[in-house]
Amino acid sequence: MDPAKPRALLEKRAPNCNGFLREDKKEAAAAAGAGSRGDVGGRAGRSTPPVDTWREERARSEEDNELNLPSLATAYGTILRALGEDPGRQGLLKTPWRAATAMQYFTKGYQETISDVLNDAIFDEDHDEMVIVKDIDMFSMCEHHLVPFIGKVHIGYLPNKQVLGLSKLARIVEIYSRRLQVQERLTKQIAIAITEALHPSGVGVVVEATHMCMVMRGVQKMNSKTVTSTMLGVFREDPKTREEFLTLIKS
Ligand SMILES: [Zn+2]
Repeated sequence: MDPAKPRALLEKRAPNCNGFLREDKKEAAAAAGAGSRGDVGGRAGRSTPPVDTWREERARSEEDNELNLPSLATAYGTILRALGEDPGRQGLLKTPWRAATAMQYFTKGYQETISDVLNDAIFDEDHDEMVIVKDIDMFSMCEHHLVPFIGKVHIGYLPNKQVLGLSKLARIVEIYSRRLQVQERLTKQIAIAITEALHPSGVGVVVEATHMCMVMRGVQKMNSKTVTSTMLGVFREDPKTREEFLTLIKS
């Protein structure tokens, strides 16, 4: 028996980020290609965190950032001391402020709402072929470990008399990913935002990401990727539509 095995099993039982717990199944699902949809999408569907709609309230403003920066910086100073560092040494003097400012940037999705982005970007159009934007860069923060997970998002939808400015799909990804997230919820929120905004015949969203909380600790699987998908409307109901989407995002 592989000596690494018992440890790996123990790791999987530890309270951990979702991506890590489910990684093996997801890798298998990803390898199975089209077959991954029902499984992974279905699992995301059973998770219960509230899924925001695109009409949500703004959680944070620029003024909040200014107001909260000092206490955030103080907190980072506490972290440095608790790690055994000397916050007074030269290299760390400005670190609490830098880290606080960076963390506000990493979570700037809280400062925007989907309706900010979609206003004036929805057009009436008789186009009824699939629209796909793939390889959208995504940078997010794991809400369980406060470390990044980064990857690509692929979005497809089948319009129903309305289309969205193409760059706006990437903006939707930006708004939801620049928050504390789990990959499953991120995937679902993107799909639901597009559905509520455009009422399309169907939407498919696939997210592939590498989680630093997996790569840098635990079993240190450098090249493992977590794949999640949400399929709505005809993307869920019609295997041919789903197949077309999955084929096109791979090509
Ligand atoms: Zn994590």
